[in-house]
Amino acid sequence: EAHKIPTRIRFYESSISSGTTERLLLENDLHDALVNQELFLEYQPQLDLQSGQIRSVEALVRWQHPKKGWISPGVFIPIAEESGLIIPIGQWVLETACKQVKGWEAAGLPPIKVAVNLSLGQLFQQNLVEMIHNVLEKTQLDPQYLQLEITESMTINIDHMTTILHQLKVLGVTIAVDDFGTGYSSLSYLKDFPIDCLKIDRSFVQKIQSDSTDKALVDMILSMAKHLRLKVVAEGIEEIDQLSYLVASKCDTVQGFLFSKPIPPNILQENYQMLHKD
Ligand code: C2E
Ligand code: CA
Ligand code: CA
Ligand code: CA
Repeated sequence: EAHKIPTRIRFYESSISSGTTERLLLENDLHDALVNQELFLEYQPQLDLQSGQIRSVEALVRWQHPKKGWISPGVFIPIAEESGLIIPIGQWVLETACKQVKGWEAAGLPPIKVAVNLSLGQLFQQNLVEMIHNVLEKTQLDPQYLQLEITESMTINIDHMTTILHQLKVLGVTIAVDDFGTGYSSLSYLKDFPIDCLKIDRSFVQKIQSDSTDKALVDMILSMAKHLRLKVVAEGIEEIDQLSYLVASKCDTVQGFLFSKPIPPNILQENYQMLHKD
């Protein structure tokens, strides 16, 4: 009977290592993905509620794996962060997004601001500010059309973040706090960080009409933002009721499937040209 135990242990180990192997394979493939042009960006329009126009978009990275097909950024971004690949990928995302805004401008679209997500690993990258400066120079994008999204999970080192964010502000870009209120962090960073915008997370917006706690939280964020003179983007708007509530509450901007899913840049351009053709 003694042989049964090692067998079971071996089985257990092999199931662990197969998960690890899968991850290592994916990490390896992600390495090649940049070179082989398997990564691309989609852009999700943000609706400015005052003008009723698209004034901004969020850039979201996608990976079309040659064998495995579509892989969610929810899966590969954590792998990129753990492996350090987020540094070259993050730089590629930033450069591609800035170039795209210039491309839309050249196609005759009105000015569009692009929001680009930053990862924790990038904030601790030695030359982040210099890299962003160089991308702005290279693409000739007016920095006011670039917004950088950080999350509350990055507030682990307040002093370092404060320094970096002030250096970024000097470049002329704006800063948004993504997934605001979900990071279990103290709000005191709002005093130190030069922030321009709060993004209300989808989890608060979802039950805005049915759950009085969620409604109270959204009201609280909107009122606080107003006092701190911060813009607010509400994320994950899927229903007309949610939109009505946010319009009535004087939220600045909304982003969500109700209005548009993330789309390829040429589709955004075609839609825009169709809408503004007289
Ligand atoms: P995020 O930054 O919070 O991005 C918003 C996510 O919500 C996107 O998912 C978007 O497609 C989704 N979304 C937008 N509106 C709705 C809605 O109405 N309903 C629902 N159910 N979802 C909505 P996506 O593209 O899968 O990205 C997931 C996450 O991956 C992002 O969350 C972000 O944390 C990360 N990510 C994506 N692109 C990048 C990137 O270029 N760099 C970095 N560092 N992270 C990225
Ligand atoms: Ca984001
Ligand atoms: Ca978000
Ligand atoms: Ca999120």
